[in-house]
Order: sequence, then C-alpha cells, then structure tokens
Amino acid sequence: MTDKPVVLMPEDIQRIMGKDAQRNNIMAAKMVAEIVKTTLGPKGMDKMLVSPTNDIIVTNDGVTILEEMQIEHPAAKMMVEIAKTQESEVGDGTTTAVMLAGKLLENAEKLLDKKIHPTVITKGYRIAAERSQRILKEIALKITPEDEDILRQIAMTAMTGKGAEASKEKFADILVKAVKQVQNNGKIDLSDIKIEKCKGEGIEDTELISGIVLDKERVSYDMPESVDNARIALIDFPLELKNPEIDTKISISTPEQLQSFLTQEERVIKDMVERVKASGANVVFCQKGIDDFAQYLLSKEKIYACRRVSKSDMEMIAKATGAKIVSNLSELTERELGNALTVEEVKHGEDTLTYIKGCKNPKALTILIHGGAEHVIDEIERALKDGLGDLVCSLKSGLVVPGGGAIEIEVARRLREFGQSLPGREQLAVEEFASALEFVPVTLAENAGIDPIDTLTELKSRHDAGEKNAGLNLFENTVGNVLDAKIIEPLKIKSQAINSASEVAIMILRIDDVIASSGDKKGGGMQGMGGMPPGAGF
Ligand code: ADP
Ligand code: MG
Repeated sequence: MTDKPVVLMPEDIQRIMGKDAQRNNIMAAKMVAEIVKTTLGPKGMDKMLVSPTNDIIVTNDGVTILEEMQIEHPAAKMMVEIAKTQESEVGDGTTTAVMLAGKLLENAEKLLDKKIHPTVITKGYRIAAERSQRILKEIALKITPEDEDILRQIAMTAMTGKGAEASKEKFADILVKAVKQVQNNGKIDLSDIKIEKCKGEGIEDTELISGIVLDKERVSYDMPESVDNARIALIDFPLELKNPEIDTKISISTPEQLQSFLTQEERVIKDMVERVKASGANVVFCQKGIDDFAQYLLSKEKIYACRRVSKSDMEMIAKATGAKIVSNLSELTERELGNALTVEEVKHGEDTLTYIKGCKNPKALTILIHGGAEHVIDEIERALKDGLGDLVCSLKSGLVVPGGGAIEIEVARRLREFGQSLPGREQLAVEEFASALEFVPVTLAENAGIDPIDTLTELKSRHDAGEKNAGLNLFENTVGNVLDAKIIEPLKIKSQAINSASEVAIMILRIDDVIASSGDKKGGGMQGMGGMPPGAGF
C-alpha cells in the first residue's frame, strides 16, 4: 500500500453528488418556474428587463424573459431550453411549459422526501406523459380552415393579456387573413409573412399589406418617389469603389496623374450603373453601400435605389418578386430581375418606408405594426407572433382544445383514473403529474386575484360531473364552459408543453452527480451552483 493520494481530476473541478446535486438542480428549476409564473394568463403581470446598455424590454412573454436574464445555472439553463423549443415548435405556450416542468420537479421532491427512488418517479412520469398525449387527442376538437370564427378566437386567446389586447379583434382579423392568404394546400410558410415595425400613429393603425414593406428610404431625393411596373435588381455588392478591407497606397506626383486616377474611378462606377441600366432595371436594392457618385448616376437614370438592405429582406424580396440576388454585375441581365406593380416611398410619422406592392408572388405579405414607442411595438410584435404561431399549428393539425385550464383539469382527472390501475409507487408519481397539470388553472386564478383553492375545487367537481369544457373564464372571472366563452387554444401548445416539460423534469431527476470544470472563467462552469441563495446565477 502506498499513501500517495489518488488524483482523478484537476483541483479546480467542482463536484456535487447524490442528494445535494438533485436538490440543487430541482431548486434552480423551481426558481426559473417561479420567475415566469406571475406572467401566466390574461391577468398575468409584465416584467421590465433592463439590459447593461439600458435598453428596456417590457414583456409578458416567457421565452423573452428567460432569454434576457442570462441564466447560468446548468439545470436552470435546461429549463430555458424548454421555453426555446416551445417557441420554435409552436410559437406560444412558453410560460405554461416552463411552469409545468418546475411543478413536476417540485412534486417529485415531495416523493423523494417519502424515500421513493428517482427511477420510480421518472418511470411514473414517463407513463403519465404518454397517457396525457392520448387523452389530449381524445378530447381535442377538429376544426377546418373554413372555421374563420374559431381561428379568430384562437388568435385572440393568444393575445389576451398582452400589449396587443386593446386591439385584439383587429389583430386577429389581420392574422387570420394573412394566414389564409399564404396557405397553400394546407401548407403555411411563415417566411411569406413579414412583420415590419414603424414608429408613429397608434397601434390600432397596424395594417396588413399585400407585398413587402422595407424599413428603408430611397438613397437620394433626386430619385423618383415611386416607380410603376417595377423591374427589380437585387445586388449584394457595393456600388462604390472604396473597399475598406483593402488598404491601398497610391503615389501620385502630378495633377495630371490625380485627374486620370479620379477619372478612372468614375469610369468604374459609371460602368457599374451602365450595366444596371442595360439589364432594364428601374429599381435597385443593394445589400451594401451606394456612394454619392453612383447615387447621382442612378438618379439621372430615374432608378429607385435603397442601400444596406438586410440579407433577410433581400431574400424575402427575391421570393416575393422572383428576382435573383446577384453578386457580380456581369451576371445581371433581364432574367435576374424581379417584378412588382409599384415600388414607392411612404412616410409614416418618423419613419420612411419602401412599399413593394403587387408582387409576382401574391402570397408575400407584410404586417406593418404601428405604435408610439419602441418597446410597445416590440411587445405587440411578440403577441402577434404568438397568435400567428397558434393559428399555424391549429391549421396544421386541425385540432384545438378548450383553454382557461379546462384541458389541464380534464387530463388530470383522466390521468388519476388511469393511475388506479398502476402499482402503488408509480401511481403516486402519476398522481403528482396530474396535480402538476392542475397548477395551470390554479396559477391563472392566483394571477387574477381569485381564490385558487375554491376555483380548483369547483373545476374538479364540475369535471367529475361530466362538464369537460369547464374552465376559468377570466373575461368574467367565473368558472364555466370556456368553449362558449371562446377561450380556445391549439392542441399542439399543450402536447408540446407536456412533452418537453416531462422530458426535462425526467432528465433533471436522473442526475445525481454534477462535475463542473471551471474553464477560463473565474468560478466558471459551476457558477450559480454554490449555496443557491435566491437569485444566484442570474
Ligand atoms: P403562455 O406563455 O404559456 O402562452 P400566456 O400568458 O399566454 O402564457 O397564458 C396562457 C394561458 O392563459 C392559457 O392557459 C390560456 O388558456 C389562458 N387564457 C387565455 N385567455 C384566457 C381567458 N380569457 N380566460 C381564462 N384563461 C385564459
Ligand atoms: Mg400565450
């Protein structure tokens, strides 16, 4: 035997094992859920987030809050991931998903306290999650694209309680029209719908424009303000000579040399503009800069031009007008041009925009959000995106469910029934899963200042009596049939939320050892793992 110590890992590696690891992770996950909880539902509150550069975001949107918070704790980060997945898969329901995961873990902790092994809990949770999906499908109602009223209600449910609430009827109209216009044999490509923002006028002036709206003005006032029968060139190189990336020294010793150098430069630009003209283009959107001389020449040719158009806008214009983005002027011919009926400059309050209307592809649409202040417009954009996401997934699957907690109560009820057939310990886990679902209406009530326990009791007894659409109606603060009250959501919000919440809860429960290297950062990988005082890691 030697008394030399065995060194497995470098000294700066931190390790938390067993129960400590589990409790620490659960605690962090619960804290994340706790943060977004107060924003749930139409009566939820907003949060104000201030960035290091003092930019302000006022929002009610779960994923935006979590993304902006720079969360560091590894388990908490997993929770943020659920919100992101929910956002990209559905576009709404982020708060629900995160809260559900937090509650699943909180309830699991109760079982751990009763000395139930984590593998039993995770098995029970997995069974419950699968069963919930089946129950959801049984309860869901079918809709068709012709059910415009229901679609409008789905969009409104998504926007209730957000900044968009005041004009939600108008917004719902816009969203339903937009989605119906772009849909093609049941397929909807959201990249056909551009959302553009403009400061000035009120949010009720928000409009749906068929065509593309760019947040750009023409580069020179000498250019025409509008062009009919537009032939559009999209170029992604600069119409200028200076190339800041290449530092060139030119020695010039006589005035003649200088003159000939300048003439040479002018000739290159003249040549560029000549080529644009030769292609037949009367509108140019350039992804890079357009210098003064090029502007002058383009104006002389009565060509409308915008510079520094973003790549995503270029792609959208390409799709809408049939233009090809060219990277080399010698490639530019009539064939690369796109078409639109008109391209014109329009002033709205402080902003000047370019409208491209009557595009070759009639499916290209822009929702132009108006509003007085930037953070108001941004919050409206988030609400509209929630509504848009909900419409798209309602149409895709054609299945919707009652909101206001009705669906959660019904799934929980049927889960409990089903749980009776399971062996004792797993039954407990299924039971806890069901009670985690009930946390949704409980929180909806709490956030609205209604007694959560009374509400839950009434909801449960109504569901026991067969009223499967009984939910919390927060228009009237009563318990009743939420379908009649037009509180409807797509099935996919709930199925995705249950799926990802249970997945992450199971993953976190299975961890009993956290080994973190500190890396370069001081305190590094284990940041926030330490004593976990409230707020640690954020
Ligand atoms: P999420 O980020 O999860 O979408 P929201 O803040 O959008 O969170 O709240 C969604 C919840 O609010 C859903 O459970 C939905 O059924 C509920 N809800 C929406 N409108 C109403 C209403 N008028 N009455 C009661 N519940 C509502
Ligand atoms: Mg929502």
